[in-house]
Amino acid sequence: MDTKPFYKASDNRYDNQGMYTFCGHSGVILPKLSLGMWHNFGSVDPYERSRAITHYAFDHGITHFDLANNYGPVYGSAEETMGRLMDDSFRPYRDELFISTKAGYDMWPGPYGNGGSRKYLMASLDQSLKRMHIDYVDLFYSHRYDPNTPIEETLQALVDIVRAGKALYVGISNWPLEQLRKGYDYLAARDVPLLIYQGKLNRLWTEHIDNGLLAFCKEKGIGYIAFSPLAQGLLTDRYINGIPSDSRMAKGKFLRAEQLNDEVRAKVAAVRVEAAERKITTAQRALGWILEQQGVTSVLVGASSVEQLQDNLAAINVH
Ligand code: NDP
Repeated sequence: MDTKPFYKASDNRYDNQGMYTFCGHSGVILPKLSLGMWHNFGSVDPYERSRAITHYAFDHGITHFDLANNYGPVYGSAEETMGRLMDDSFRPYRDELFISTKAGYDMWPGPYGNGGSRKYLMASLDQSLKRMHIDYVDLFYSHRYDPNTPIEETLQALVDIVRAGKALYVGISNWPLEQLRKGYDYLAARDVPLLIYQGKLNRLWTEHIDNGLLAFCKEKGIGYIAFSPLAQGLLTDRYINGIPSDSRMAKGKFLRAEQLNDEVRAKVAAVRVEAAERKITTAQRALGWILEQQGVTSVLVGASSVEQLQDNLAAINVH
């Protein structure tokens, strides 16, 4: 395996002036479209394709790559892919990248590989750094609220991770609003302000608009990054003629055929009509709608090809 650096980023990578926005009330500027590595970057995926997608992303101004300890499959392997990318492509650009990872869900066997304990979060981040061949992450998230761990324990672990220099900023993902409020106060009181909330938001899933969580983030100056903005592909033309054999739905684990029911089909059709009126693609309209919501910092897309990412990126400028 050749791991010598060979990649030179495009000189035009920052030409898209509409690409960036401040993350809440912070000095951090994030791209309005970020790349998530939950799927398509694991050890089961061809490395050359993963690399082509990340190169395309960075060459077009996407500076933010989002990971978690258990992204793959297998668990940990998306972070290993990022480590390989650091070695063969991105090391010279480390200070131009904003890399996040998380811990909270199932990662390793036994009592310390899941949840919100200090023991789990600290060990997990150390493992993540080793897999990614980096000595700090830009952003570390509690991936979920764990009702079995005192909230202060999880939050203090986040504070101490920043104090130890292993993460520059902390984020919270998937916590309910009530616990988010507590988390915000706890972190602010310790001068480790909550940078960003990562939650599910798309045309089929609007809970954080409906329950005021997005408005809370905006009010407090917390950034908000929307995951699964295309509802894992439902909000595109991917399933317009059935279920392609290479699609996430065909793999069947996280996106099941029964999710494409009549109600969803009707909502997707409405997005398609809006897209046609604007002469843009369904995916671009689905992403554009999220970017129009007050308080949203970035849409965190997945992509299984360079072509999909190219389609999604155009949503920044037309929606
Ligand atoms: P999306 O909703 O963007 O779905 C991505 C999938 O949609 C792709 O894999 C592809 O499916 C399809 N797709 C993407 N673009 C297009 C296009 N232009 N045309 C047609 N099909 C398209 O996001 P994800 O669900 O992948 O989530 C994105 C990221 O959010 C994750 O990688 C992760 O970083 C984060 N996340 C965080 C969670 C959390 O708990 N904090 C939970 C879930 C995600 P196909 O593979 O079939 O080609």
